[in-house]
Amino acid sequence: MKDKRLYSPKYVREILNRYGFQFTKSLGQNFLIDGNIVRKISEEGNITKEDYVLEIGPGIGTLTEELALNAKKVVAIELDKNLFPILDETLNNYNNVEIIHGDILKVDIDKIIKEKLAGGPVKVVANLPYYVTTPIIAKLIEEDLNIESIIIMIQKEVAHRIIASPNNKQYGSLSIFVNFYTNPEILITVPKTVFMPKPKVDSAIIRLNLKKDLPQVDRKIFFQVVKAAFSKRRKTILNSLSSSSLGLDKEQVKEVLKTSNIPLEARAENLKIEDFIKISKTLPSLDIY
Ligand code: SAM
Repeated sequence: MKDKRLYSPKYVREILNRYGFQFTKSLGQNFLIDGNIVRKISEEGNITKEDYVLEIGPGIGTLTEELALNAKKVVAIELDKNLFPILDETLNNYNNVEIIHGDILKVDIDKIIKEKLAGGPVKVVANLPYYVTTPIIAKLIEEDLNIESIIIMIQKEVAHRIIASPNNKQYGSLSIFVNFYTNPEILITVPKTVFMPKPKVDSAIIRLNLKKDLPQVDRKIFFQVVKAAFSKRRKTILNSLSSSSLGLDKEQVKEVLKTSNIPLEARAENLKIEDFIKISKTLPSLDIY
């Protein structure tokens, strides 16, 4: 059984050949072939026999198997139908795993948690398909789901953008978006050699600690302001906000910035989340909303 663990490159190759499986690059199919990383992801999730786990994109079941060994129940959502006969074989020994066919961006996660994962709270653990990393993260953190923790492997460069602080080149709307809802941390970086096929980029395992109390602000206005500010990140905040879809003229933006105690010559990348919150709270007083 031991040498038959799914992270053995020899076994992965054998099983893929036997089923005539062809990787679909556009689905971000890079399967793990390193036992240490598979264990590390599961360990970081602190998965115990009490836990309900939601996995996104099980592939041939490599991480799923590790999660099934540790969790009470695992539900994994996979888009590629061609993987289902393989998963039937590789996860045959585990009666605490359920694979659902679907697109994670389209399925009703709340319903799945309620109907198949005892209502949660669930731990989300996944080696994400990289072409949809941001929309998946957005769905997980915005939808007010009963999620206890999120441990995901993503592209290293995206992980650095997520954790970036103000005054840093990588700081931008993604950093603000994720930090609005969570406290993110990079756990380890992972070389491309642990995947089959080998991707072009390195990866990182990150944890998103969901905030219990979100900042009190109108989110629609807040994210509109952030988007407008970073759409022209080289300009001063005065110029970017006054030439944006917010429909404000320069005098109005000046007034807002003064009230919010933000220097007129600041740029988007100099502003903290709290500064964008201050701007967003001041805007409605202009009577344009
Ligand atoms: N978990 C496996 C592993 O670590 O070896 C596979 C990870 S691979 C990076 C990403 C997986 O997500 C693939 O199996 C792919 O088919 C699946 N996938 C891609 N897009 C998806 C989507 N929109 N919804 C659900 N699964 C998706």
